[in-house]
Amino acid sequence: MMCTPDATHDPNLSSWVESANEVDADFPIQNLPFGVFQRLDRAETPRVGVAIGNQILDLAACHALGLLDTLSEPVQAACVASALNDLMALGRAASLPLRHHLSQLLRMGHDTVAISQALVPMSQAQLLLPAQIGDYTDFYASIFHATNVGKLFRPDNPLLPNYKYVPIAYHGRASSIVPSGTPIQRPSGQWKRPDEAVPTFTRSQSLDYELEVGCFVGRGNELGQPIAIDQAEDHLFGLCLVNDWSARDLQAWEYQPLGPFLAKSFATTLSPWVVTMEALAPFRCPAFTRPAADPSPLPYLTALSNQEYGGIALTLEVLLTSTQMRQQNSPPLHISQSTFQQMYWTLAQMLTHHTSNGCNLRPGDLFASGTVSGMEPGSAGCLLERTQRGTQPILLPTGESRSFLEAGDEVILRGYCEQEGYTRIGLGECRGQVT
Ligand code: CA
Repeated sequence: MMCTPDATHDPNLSSWVESANEVDADFPIQNLPFGVFQRLDRAETPRVGVAIGNQILDLAACHALGLLDTLSEPVQAACVASALNDLMALGRAASLPLRHHLSQLLRMGHDTVAISQALVPMSQAQLLLPAQIGDYTDFYASIFHATNVGKLFRPDNPLLPNYKYVPIAYHGRASSIVPSGTPIQRPSGQWKRPDEAVPTFTRSQSLDYELEVGCFVGRGNELGQPIAIDQAEDHLFGLCLVNDWSARDLQAWEYQPLGPFLAKSFATTLSPWVVTMEALAPFRCPAFTRPAADPSPLPYLTALSNQEYGGIALTLEVLLTSTQMRQQNSPPLHISQSTFQQMYWTLAQMLTHHTSNGCNLRPGDLFASGTVSGMEPGSAGCLLERTQRGTQPILLPTGESRSFLEAGDEVILRGYCEQEGYTRIGLGECRGQVT
């Protein structure tokens, strides 16, 4: 079932947490994303929290204060866990009542005497990975990205014949997924210069980011039990931002015939807050309209609900700062903007395709969309496309230029949803600095 807007999305709601009511706040009371954090000033196990303005509502503290007593035992247990996997496993029947309860607790007019003890300023917390990620799969769902990159590597044959039939993906590495803010070490690897006959092993000279949307799996499926397309939304928990750091020189040398390996597995950065499918209900939109000449998806990837509401009106941005820019107090340079509406495949289609051979997904597994690029200029979701493989460098306000990332560069991804008649919600930020 597709989530539909309800009383928790009422734009007239405001919170007693004042910072949540600011215009353009990422985390107003209509959002209520989940994350996992640790306070900086004490040694404690990681705990589940909800972002509200610039504060975190500590759910373990809420539980200790008796504020979650009306919720079911399994939901209460999931709220005092040290990762979101248990909550994800419970599915919509648990996350929806919890959302309604949190909306009540945080709204203006609620008695704040007890609950204000459960607030932690975000500035005094370290935000961790939201879940224990068992498996990570990275799709390639933007036809604009696939075509642009295909042109650079294979000018005569940019889009391979399977693309319009199969949601293409590769299996990524879960162990090197890191939370926002983790320094990114430039990888070394094997690559071959075009003018040389043999490869060398050296530091990558073409380090890149990829702007992607990540989706956490909620309820899983049993091995051998595919998830039908009209059931797929029930298994999506929520979204975050993903930076799929990529070493283009390593990638070009290693990617055929089996796809990316060490060019990607050195690090993947996630934003800390998981915006639930419930929160995203007002921002659902039709799936991408394929050009008339394109084939329809095969029947197992086709459902009317997916066609009508499978898309998400989510705007995504990439910003960059260099060491020099920060020294000169120059604000981050906005280098691209794209929209998730233009993805060739929906999240439901990706999930259904993933399980169509009987592969089981588990709560807390992550899949990412692939680089989100659009058709307009300035909508390229990585430097490879943005600079045309380094031939058209970006000029920074300091006079520096960038073909690919250099030491000290920080990449900042942002995402937000806006819709007439509803309150804007954001995904927050996904940051990483190259060392
Ligand atoms: Ca990718």
